[in-house]
Amino acid sequence: MEDLNIPKNLYINVEKLESFLSEKGVSNVCPSCGHDKWVVPNASVVAGGVIPWGTGTGDPYMMGLPVVIMFCANCKLVRNHALLDGLEDVLEERDGAPSGG
Ligand SMILES: [Zn+2]
Repeated sequence: MEDLNIPKNLYINVEKLESFLSEKGVSNVCPSCGHDKWVVPNASVVAGGVIPWGTGTGDPYMMGLPVVIMFCANCKLVRNHALLDGLEDVLEERDGAPSGG
Protein backbone atom coordinates (compact mmCIF):
# COMPACT_ATOMS: atom_id res chain seq x y z
CA MET A 1 0.00 0.00 0.00
CA GLU A 2 1.38 3.39 -0.96
CA ASP A 3 2.15 5.86 1.79
CA LEU A 4 0.89 9.21 0.59
CA ASN A 5 2.55 10.96 3.54
CA ILE A 6 -0.61 12.88 4.33
CA PRO A 7 -0.33 14.29 7.84
CA LYS A 8 -2.91 12.93 10.25
CA ASN A 9 -3.87 13.61 13.81
CA LEU A 10 -2.59 17.17 13.84
CA TYR A 11 -3.51 19.63 16.53
CA ILE A 12 -2.82 23.26 17.37
CA ASN A 13 -0.15 23.62 20.07
CA VAL A 14 -1.75 26.48 22.01
CA GLU A 15 1.43 27.30 23.96
CA LYS A 16 3.37 27.76 20.72
CA LEU A 17 0.50 29.83 19.31
CA GLU A 18 0.52 32.11 22.36
CA SER A 19 4.31 32.53 22.07
CA PHE A 20 4.10 33.41 18.37
CA LEU A 21 1.34 35.98 18.90
CA SER A 22 3.15 37.48 21.90
CA GLU A 23 6.39 37.82 19.91
CA LYS A 24 4.45 39.65 17.20
CA GLY A 25 2.90 42.05 19.71
CA VAL A 26 -0.64 40.81 19.14
CA SER A 27 -3.12 42.06 21.74
CA ASN A 28 -5.26 39.57 23.64
CA VAL A 29 -8.01 42.16 24.07
CA CYS A 30 -11.12 41.32 22.07
CA PRO A 31 -11.91 44.31 19.80
CA SER A 32 -15.61 43.58 20.19
CA CYS A 33 -16.13 43.22 23.95
CA GLY A 34 -12.78 43.92 25.63
CA HIS A 35 -12.38 40.54 27.31
CA ASP A 36 -9.07 38.68 26.93
CA LYS A 37 -9.88 34.97 26.84
CA TRP A 38 -9.79 33.18 23.46
CA VAL A 39 -10.75 29.63 22.56
CA VAL A 40 -8.82 27.57 19.99
CA PRO A 41 -10.95 24.67 18.73
CA ASN A 42 -8.91 21.46 18.88
CA ALA A 43 -10.65 18.14 18.37
CA SER A 44 -9.61 14.65 17.39
CA VAL A 45 -9.85 15.34 13.67
CA VAL A 46 -9.83 19.15 13.68
CA ALA A 47 -6.72 21.34 13.55
CA GLY A 48 -7.26 24.87 12.40
CA GLY A 49 -9.43 25.74 9.45
CA VAL A 50 -9.41 27.07 5.93
CA ILE A 51 -10.72 30.17 4.19
CA PRO A 52 -11.69 29.17 0.65
CA TRP A 53 -10.00 30.97 -2.23
CA GLY A 54 -12.27 32.41 -4.89
CA THR A 55 -11.85 32.53 -8.66
CA GLY A 56 -12.94 36.18 -8.91
CA THR A 57 -16.31 35.18 -10.27
CA GLY A 58 -17.92 34.25 -6.99
CA ASP A 59 -17.04 30.59 -7.41
CA PRO A 60 -14.89 28.81 -4.85
CA TYR A 61 -11.49 27.49 -5.85
CA MET A 62 -10.53 23.96 -4.90
CA MET A 63 -8.09 25.05 -2.19
CA GLY A 64 -7.88 27.76 0.43
CA LEU A 65 -5.83 29.60 2.99
CA PRO A 66 -4.94 27.51 6.07
CA VAL A 67 -5.75 29.39 9.25
CA VAL A 68 -5.87 28.95 12.97
CA ILE A 69 -9.33 29.84 14.23
CA MET A 70 -9.84 31.57 17.55
CA PHE A 71 -13.02 32.91 19.10
CA CYS A 72 -13.66 35.15 22.07
CA ALA A 73 -14.83 33.14 25.08
CA ASN A 74 -17.22 35.96 26.02
CA CYS A 75 -18.85 37.42 22.88
CA LYS A 76 -17.81 34.67 20.38
CA LEU A 77 -16.16 37.04 17.89
CA VAL A 78 -14.13 34.88 15.49
CA ARG A 79 -10.63 35.76 14.31
CA ASN A 80 -8.17 33.92 12.09
CA HIS A 81 -4.39 33.94 11.66
CA ALA A 82 -2.87 32.47 8.50
CA LEU A 83 -0.78 29.36 9.08
CA LEU A 84 2.12 30.78 7.09
CA ASP A 85 5.64 32.16 7.59
CA GLY A 86 6.42 30.30 10.80
CA LEU A 87 2.97 30.10 12.35
CA GLU A 88 2.44 26.69 10.70
CA ASP A 89 4.89 25.39 13.32
CA VAL A 90 2.03 25.45 15.83
CA LEU A 91 0.65 22.38 14.02
CA GLU A 92 1.96 19.24 15.65
CA GLU A 93 1.25 15.54 15.33
CA ARG A 94 -0.40 13.87 18.27
CA ASP A 95 1.88 11.33 19.89
CA GLY A 96 0.60 7.81 20.01
CA ALA A 97 -2.75 8.63 18.51
CA PRO A 98 -4.36 6.08 16.24
CA SER A 99 -3.67 6.78 12.58
CA GLY A 100 -7.33 7.25 11.82
CA GLY A 101 -8.58 6.65 8.33
ZN1 LIG B 1 -15.30 39.39 22.77
